[in-house]
Formats: sequence, structure tokens, C-alpha cells
Amino acid sequence: MGRKLVVLHVDGVSADSLEQGLGEGDMPFVQHLINSEGYEVLRYRCGVPSTTPFAQAGILYGDNSEIPSFRWWDRERRVLVQFGAGSTFEKVADKYFDGCMPLTNDGACIAACYPAGAADDFGIAYQDRTYGQQSKSRSAAAVLVPYLANPVHLGDWVWQTVAMVGRTARDYATARGEGRHPARPYVVTDVVEEIFVHHLTRYAVQKAMREGFSPIYAGFYAFDETAHAFGPGDRSAQRALKHVDHTVRRIASARGDRYEMVLLSDHGHVDTIPFAAASGRPLGAVLAQMLPGFRVQEMKGKAYGPPDDLATGRLHVTMSGGLAHLYFADRGRRMGYRELAAQHPGLVPSLQRLEQVGLVMARDGDEDLFWSGPVQLRGAALTAALSRYEDAQILATQLSRLNSFEASGDVIVFGAFVGDKQVNFENQAGGHGSIGGAQLHPFLLAKREWGIDTSAVLGAHELHPILSDLRDRLAT
Ligand SMILES: [Zn+2]
Repeated sequence: MGRKLVVLHVDGVSADSLEQGLGEGDMPFVQHLINSEGYEVLRYRCGVPSTTPFAQAGILYGDNSEIPSFRWWDRERRVLVQFGAGSTFEKVADKYFDGCMPLTNDGACIAACYPAGAADDFGIAYQDRTYGQQSKSRSAAAVLVPYLANPVHLGDWVWQTVAMVGRTARDYATARGEGRHPARPYVVTDVVEEIFVHHLTRYAVQKAMREGFSPIYAGFYAFDETAHAFGPGDRSAQRALKHVDHTVRRIASARGDRYEMVLLSDHGHVDTIPFAAASGRPLGAVLAQMLPGFRVQEMKGKAYGPPDDLATGRLHVTMSGGLAHLYFADRGRRMGYRELAAQHPGLVPSLQRLEQVGLVMARDGDEDLFWSGPVQLRGAALTAALSRYEDAQILATQLSRLNSFEASGDVIVFGAFVGDKQVNFENQAGGHGSIGGAQLHPFLLAKREWGIDTSAVLGAHELHPILSDLRDRLAT
């Protein structure tokens, strides 16, 4: 008798955070899985960018090429591609995943960035209820109404909402009182995210199991939101891990003997210092000074420099945590470094000298070019510079892949580390998307008897064949 598979994606939990949560007793159920059900924590590398659209595409489709960031500029369609509220991925979706065999083909894919061939998404897409409205999707109301009609759910939800709003307000006040700077926009969304979507997703997974879907893939984002707001090591993030543990317990107790369960994360988090706080000005303002006459538009941010009709050119900047892509927006194709240096000789030298910038990358033909501090990095100097972040050989391979994307910026900028904190181009207390530290090292929690080895996985797309194989082995 074949078995079915349910995969729980807990966003933003690094292998280090998981191990810390286990060590401190915040995840008693996951500890039980390890002690009594034969599970083990397997570390893997998500690749660069360490961000959800990239990692999740890799896991679900086995192909995450041309996804350079959480948001990016599509030069050909002239679209800012982004996920979450106001997702625009559908405007370029036809360019992606051609010929891929999705992990959740004919299964259920709940609260994910992509439909991944699923027969049903239970009306819940990634922080957004519109991209989920594909032909195979049931309406969100079809899940929501029965959920809320149950007085137990409603009571649970109302009670937890009140409790969470209270706790988050207290955490916010405490953090401010201690002179820290929690990221305010995240504080409200993480409460809503935490309680509502998390509960609803958990309910949808239980429903999908009752209806016999396989495989089921479901995304839980409460930890990620909380870590952005307060930092991954904060007590709020620790509490979010307890909540994740509770969710895993609830789903596991409904799995019966028909389902096997896998828990995984897509990337980790690092503590951050916002660029604007570190340099005194936002990145867009700094770039506008480096490119006189240019209109510099931070995508999902402010614009700097002369107004559009007076500008001599336009630069678009997309920022995802400690990673920024710079696009000369009037061009339909990516610019090689030789041309860039001829047109704007001062740009890369000025960027590489910024204290808040750890690494600058561009491309000349097939060659990857790197700069840091006063010098261009080559040979042993490049190896030494990269090994500050990760195994230099592995990181060079991951960066080279990102640098090969046509969708990447003409110049790619990585935030510097100041102590154990990374300069982050967005206003967050915890971030990811870039290189260095726990953000590159997520985890997979799987049964030892399945014989899974992730030690050679250098990118999330390499999990796809491993999980597809597990799905097929379980089914027979
Ligand atoms: Zn995130």
C-alpha cells in the first residue's frame, strides 16, 4: 500500500535557528520527531539569492534560473516583478518553468508563490489571494467559511489574535525601550500573518489530507515575518518557532498512517543594520549622487535625482535584504561591464568603496567580475574575500549562476557585515537574500530510513529531484 507525502515549508528558519530552538526546548514536538520517529536535521545550501521565490521555485520545479531576487526588473516586458501583495509574477510567468515536472503535480500546493502543477491550492496563495485564482483553484471562501463556521476555530482565532496583538505590542515597546529598532511595517503584518493565514493554511492542509491529495506542499511564513520585524534571535522569533512547532504537531496528529511528513525551510535569516541608518542616506540617494542627471527609482521605494522629463537616464534599483540589483532601465538587455565602465566609469569604483558594501559583482562576456574595498578581486584575493562568507569555491559557483541570469542587474551589490550584522538595503531588523551566515543554510527534516543526503546540495533546485524521488518511492 503506497503512502502519501505532505511537505511543510517553514519560511526563513535557518538550520542554526532550528537547532537553537531545539536546544532551548522551544520545539518539543520536532524534538519528539527526532527522538522517537527517526527524523534527522539535514542542512543544505539554498544558493544565492537566499530568498523565497528563488528557493521555492527550485524546490517545486527543479528550475529557479532567471529568478535573481525577491523582486526584479524584467527589461523586455518593462515590469517590476514581485510577489506578495500586488504580485506581478503572472505578467512574466509564461517565461518560466517550461518543460518542468512540478513536485506537486496533481497534488495540493497551499500558500506558495507558484501553482506548481497542483490540482488545488485551497484558495490560499503566497500572502495574496489573487494569484491563487487559477482554473483549478477553489475560492478562498470555500475554505474560509467552513473554517470560521466552526466555533472552536473562531474562538481559537479570536483568542490568539487578541493574545498575539498584545504580545507583539509589548515586544515592540520593549525593543524600542532597549534602544533597538524593530521594523514597524512588519509588526502589523506579522500579527495578521501569524494568526490568520497560518491557521487557515494549517486548516487547509488538514482538509487536503482528509481529501487524500498527494503530495501536499504548504508554506508557513509567520517565523519569516517575525524575524524581519525583530531579528532572528529575538524572543518574538523564538515564540514564532513555538507556534511552528504547534502547527507541525497539529498536522502530524492528523496524518494517520497514510501520510509521511517532511519539514523544510527555504533560507535562513541574519541580524541586520538598515543601509539608510548605517550611511545616513538611502541607497537610492547615494546612487543619484554617483550618477548625476539620472533618475534613480528604488523599486518599492522612493525616487531620487531630477524628475523623469529632465533626467538624462534612469536607474532602477531592486532591493531584497542585503542584495541590490541595479538596472539601467532604458535598455532592453543586460549591459556588460566594458560598456558600463565606458559610459559610467565612476559607478563601480564609488560603490566598491562604500563602507556599507561588502561585494560588487558585474559581468563581462562570460567572465564574473568582483570588487571589494579599493580593489578588483582576482585569484587568491577573490578566494580570501569570498571565504569570509562561505566556502569560497561553493560561493563562487553560486554567485556565478546568479551572475549568468539575464534578469540580474547590470551591477549587483551585496551588503557588508559589521560584526555579525549585515547591512540590509531594506528597513528590517532581520534579513536575507544576500550572502553570508545563516541566511544561506536552511534545513530539511526527514526520516533517516529514507537515506537522503543533502551535503552536496548547493542550491534549492537540487532538492527537487530528491523530494520527487521520495514522493515516488513512498507511493509504490
Ligand atoms: Zn523573508
